[in-house]
Amino acid sequence: MSEAIKLFIEDARAVSIEEAAKIMRLTFKRTGVEHPQPCPHCFGTDTFSFNTKKEKWNCRAGGIGGNDAIGMAAHCEGLDLKSREGLLEACSIVLDQDIPDEGERESDEDRAARKKRLEERRLQNDADAAARADSQAEFREKERAKARGIYEAAAPVGRHGRPVADYLEARGCGQIGAAQWLRYASDLPYWHGQDERGRPLELYSGPAMVAPFIGPDLVAIGCHITWLDLKRPPKYRPQLSDSDTGELLPTKKMRGSKKGGLIPLFGDPSVKRWVGGEGIENGAAFAAWEGFREDTFYFAAGDLGNLAGPADPSSRFAHPTLKKPDAKGVARPVTIAGPRPKPDQDGDDAMWVADHVRELVLLADGDSERVMTAAAMARARARHARPGRIIPIVWPRAGYDFSRMAVETGE
Ligand SMILES: [Zn+2]
Repeated sequence: MSEAIKLFIEDARAVSIEEAAKIMRLTFKRTGVEHPQPCPHCFGTDTFSFNTKKEKWNCRAGGIGGNDAIGMAAHCEGLDLKSREGLLEACSIVLDQDIPDEGERESDEDRAARKKRLEERRLQNDADAAARADSQAEFREKERAKARGIYEAAAPVGRHGRPVADYLEARGCGQIGAAQWLRYASDLPYWHGQDERGRPLELYSGPAMVAPFIGPDLVAIGCHITWLDLKRPPKYRPQLSDSDTGELLPTKKMRGSKKGGLIPLFGDPSVKRWVGGEGIENGAAFAAWEGFREDTFYFAAGDLGNLAGPADPSSRFAHPTLKKPDAKGVARPVTIAGPRPKPDQDGDDAMWVADHVRELVLLADGDSERVMTAAAMARARARHARPGRIIPIVWPRAGYDFSRMAVETGE
C-alpha cells in the first residue's frame, strides 16, 4: 500500500461522525445530539440514527451500527468494507476527496450504477415519507376539526348547561355559576368498537361536560369529554361496559390533540398566577376552595404525562417498596420514571405555560401511587422552572384528591 493511500485512510479514520454526517448531507434535528431519520440504505421511519456526542451510529433496519464515520458511510452508501475498493470509496466519501491515484477504485461504470441505484431509492424514500407525513397531518387536522366541532356545538355553562354546574358541585367544586370555558352537550354519542363493516359503533349517548384543549394561541386543538350521570354517586358518571367482554370503559375521552395543550377551567391565561394539576375535578375543587381567585387562571393538564413531560432515562429509579414479578416470576422493584426532565424536549412534549406566569401552583393527586406521583411532580416543576417563577406543589391528604376532600368536608 502506498504512503499516500495509508495517509488517506488515516485521515478518513480521524473524521468525526458529525463531520461525515454533514458531508453526506444526513439530517440533523434542530436540537440535541441524537439524530434519528430513515436509513439512506434500508429506509423506513427513524430506522437510522447517529449521535454526535457519543460518536455512534446505528441502523435498526440493517441491524448494524458502530462508532466510526467510515462504517457509517459504507452502510449508507451500500459499500462493502471488506473489499479494498469499498474501504477506499468509504474513505473518499467521509473526506470528501478523491482516492489518491495509486489506489484501486471501483470502475466509473460501477460507480455510476451504484450512484443511480442509491439515487432512485432515495427519491422513492422521500416520496414515501412525504406521503406518510401528508396523510398523518391530514388525519390530525381532521381529528382536530372534529374535536373543535364537538366543543363548538356544546352550550356554554350559564343559563344553559346547568348539569355541568350540578356535576361539579356534586364533585366538591362549589358553585361555578357561569363558566367561560366549560361547556355542556345534552346528548353526545360514545363510540366504542366497530360493526362488521368496520364502522364505529355508538355504544351510548348522553349528557356530557366538554372542555377544550388549547394551545398558546388559545385556539382549540382538541377536546376533553366527561359523560355525566347525576343519579350515580360518588363519581356521578354513567357505567359503561364493553358488550362482549363486560370490561368497564372509561367515561372520559379526549379527541383531537392533547399533547402540549391544556384544559382551561376558570379565569384568564393572561394573569400571572396559574393553578392546576392532572384532572378537571381536582383543579376545580381547589379553585372552589380558594374562592375562584380573580388573579388566577385555573387549568388541567388532562393527564400526568402532559403535566410533567418525559423523564430523563438516567433518572429512573427503583421503587422503594413496590415489586412486580419478572419473566421468571422473581419479584423485582418497579422502575419509576425519574424526577429529571428528558433533555432536548420538544415544545409540545408537555403542556405549555405562558412566559409571564410568576406563580405556578401544581396540584398533586393524592389517590395515585405516591412515589410515582412525587417524581412526576418534581419533573413538572423542573420542566416549567424559569428565573423569577415560583412553583409550589400542593398535596391533598394521603389517599385523597382535592375533589373527594371537598366532598367529605362538605358533608
Ligand atoms: Zn440501514
